[in-house]
Amino acid sequence: MSRVPPNGATVSEAPELLQIRQWALPWLIHGFGTRQSEKWTHRAGRTWVHQIHSGTVHRATEAGYVADGDALISDVPGLLLEIRTADCLPVLLVDPVRRMVAAAHAGWRGTVAGIAARTATQMVTEFGCRWDDLQAAFGPSIGPCCFEVGPEVAAQFDESCVVRPVEAGEASSPESTNSTHRRVKVDLHRANLTQLVDAGLSPGAIFQVASCTMCHPGQFHSFRRDREQSGRLVSGIGILDPAA
Ligand SMILES: [Zn+2]
Repeated sequence: MSRVPPNGATVSEAPELLQIRQWALPWLIHGFGTRQSEKWTHRAGRTWVHQIHSGTVHRATEAGYVADGDALISDVPGLLLEIRTADCLPVLLVDPVRRMVAAAHAGWRGTVAGIAARTATQMVTEFGCRWDDLQAAFGPSIGPCCFEVGPEVAAQFDESCVVRPVEAGEASSPESTNSTHRRVKVDLHRANLTQLVDAGLSPGAIFQVASCTMCHPGQFHSFRRDREQSGRLVSGIGILDPAA
């Protein structure tokens, strides 16, 4: 097993890790896992929450299990904050100036609870980050092409994030009456993007590796597609320990 190279650009144990080019900083390790890199966070410093689809954010000060919740913030070198998803949206945040990182798990419930924006806001209000310095990245999640929801779920989202079926014309086609094309869908990326920008983050500081987990079975796990057989995609972010 080789160590993370000093440039942080690639992780040799995980060639299929998705990374943000602009985050190739010497002190930062980050990535969105795929089916080919499920164990890349299995290293010293792995830090996690028991995810409960909430708006609860915790500060991580040491490695290991932290608590029930859906986001972690830390400025402690040597920790690797981990989020596990299979359709939900993994969100990573970094303040390169203050050297603080965060990871959030945003499914539809967490998104409605504002988990990503709450995490960013806590970085500013409680940990001294500046909005102008904060950056965020969205990993792969179920896309607006596939994320069908019931009306009770859609009603909890801003209308700009709801994709409604075409009403006119389509109804005349008998085969489309019960088809998935007539179901309401939600755009998790857009919802989280809107919340982060509304909170204070610059739109230009939000990076996306937008790819639908359900549409790409070879690359991603999807709970909607694979149900109980589904594995989990592992995303993480951390500050490298110069002494390690
Ligand atoms: Zn899709």
